[in-house]
Amino acid sequence: MKVVKFGGSSLANSEQFKKVGDIIRADKDRKYVIPSAPGKRFSKDTKVTDLLYRLADEALQKEDFSGTLEEIKERYNEIIEGLGLEGFSLDDQFEEIKKHMTESPEVDYAASRGEHLNGRIMAEYLGFEFLDPFEMVFFDEEGLLDDKKTMRTVGKRLEEVDYAVIPGFYGCGADGKVKTFSRGGSDITGSIVAGACHADVYENWTDVSGFLVADPRIIKNPARIETITYRELRELSYMGASVLHDEAIFPVRRQGIPINIRNTNRPDDEGTWIVESTAQKSGYVITGIAGRKDFCAVLITKDMMNSEIGFGRKVLQAFEDNQISFEHMPSGIDTMTIVVHEDEFIAKEQKVVSAIHRLVKPDSIEIESDLALIAVVGRGMKSMRGTAGRIFSALAHAHVNVRMIDQGSSELNIIIGVENKDFETALQAIYDIFVLTQL
Ligand code: ASP
Repeated sequence: MKVVKFGGSSLANSEQFKKVGDIIRADKDRKYVIPSAPGKRFSKDTKVTDLLYRLADEALQKEDFSGTLEEIKERYNEIIEGLGLEGFSLDDQFEEIKKHMTESPEVDYAASRGEHLNGRIMAEYLGFEFLDPFEMVFFDEEGLLDDKKTMRTVGKRLEEVDYAVIPGFYGCGADGKVKTFSRGGSDITGSIVAGACHADVYENWTDVSGFLVADPRIIKNPARIETITYRELRELSYMGASVLHDEAIFPVRRQGIPINIRNTNRPDDEGTWIVESTAQKSGYVITGIAGRKDFCAVLITKDMMNSEIGFGRKVLQAFEDNQISFEHMPSGIDTMTIVVHEDEFIAKEQKVVSAIHRLVKPDSIEIESDLALIAVVGRGMKSMRGTAGRIFSALAHAHVNVRMIDQGSSELNIIIGVENKDFETALQAIYDIFVLTQL
C-alpha cells in the first residue's frame, strides 16, 4: 500500500490535476492521497496559500477581503471546470470562509483552506472519501504535533476506509481551533499518514525528479541521487538542500518506511529513494554536496587549554547565555573554534566576547567572518581511503584556500570552510572530481 502526497505545483491547475489523477489511477495501491494547496502555475504566479495569508491579513485589519477571496475562488473554479466536475461546487465552503473570516478572523484557519478545498475537489475527482485532518491530526499545548494521539487516531480511521483523500498542512490545535504546520507542512501530513497505516512506501510527488547531487543554481545539470539514507539527507538539508520539509522524515523513519521523491511531470522517472539503510553504492563515493555562506568563526586561544577541565563547557556557556546556537567546533591543542551563523551572531558579538573573557580568561579571541561551509556527504566515504585527499587536491587545483576542516567520526560527512567568495568555485571543483570524472 502506498501513501501519495502531491505538492502545490503538481496541483496548480486542472491540467496538473489530470496528471495527478492518471498517476493515482495507474496503481491501485495508491490508496491515501495527501494534496497541498494549488501552487504556482508559472514563476511569477502566487500560491493559493500566500493568497490566503493575504486574505487573513486583510481580514485582521478589517479591510475588504472580497477581492482576494474572488481571486482564490477563480483558481478553484478553473480546476473544477477543467476537470468537468459537473454539479460540484465549493460555493458553500466559500460562504463559510467569508463568514468565519468576518466574524473571527484567524490566520491558521485561512491558510488551511488551501489544502481543505483542494482535498474536496480531489476526493470528488477520484471518487475517494474525504477525511478532514482537523479530526485526526492534533497539536499539544505547546503547538507541537501530538504524535501519539495523532498516530492512533489516523491509524484507526484508516482501518475503516479503503481509499481516501486527506488534505495536508493542518490539524486541530489544543484550543480546538484549526492549526497549521510551518510552511511546506503537507510533507509532514503525508509522513504521518504513511506511518499510521504502515504503508510500504511514502511517495512524495513534486516538480523535480528527486534530489540532485548539488544545487542546480550553482552546478549545471547535476546528477540525480538514486538512493540516500535518512541521515545523509539530514546532513544535506541542514546545509541548505531542500525538497522535503525537515520534520517530514520522522514519522516514517521510525517504521523503516522508504520515501520516494517523484516528478509529476515525468512520472516514469524513478526519482530518489530515501531509506533507513542500504547496501547500494551511490556510484560516486559521495552522495551529495551542499553548502551555505555567511558563517563566522570565533577562534579562542589559550596556552595549556587542553589541561583545563571545563574549558569547553564554559566557552559554550557564553554562547548559550546569549541564545546563540553553534554549528561546528573544530579544535586544536590550545585552540578552540566555534562556528556560528553570522546573522545570529553579529548583534551579540561583543557580549559573547566579553563573556568568554570573563569565563575562561583566554590569551586571545579572534573573529573571522565571510566564511562559507560546504558539506560533502556520503555513506560511501566510510572506510574509503583517499576521499579527503581528493577533495583537498581538487580545491588546491582550483586555487581555493581551505580555512577549516571538520570530519565527524561517523565518516558520513566532511565539512570544509572556505571564504564566501570561493564558495561556488569550491563546490564546482568538488563536484567535478567526484561526479564528472566518473561519468
Ligand atoms: N500549502 C502550504 C505551503 O504553501 C503547505 C504545503 O504546500 O505543504 O506552505
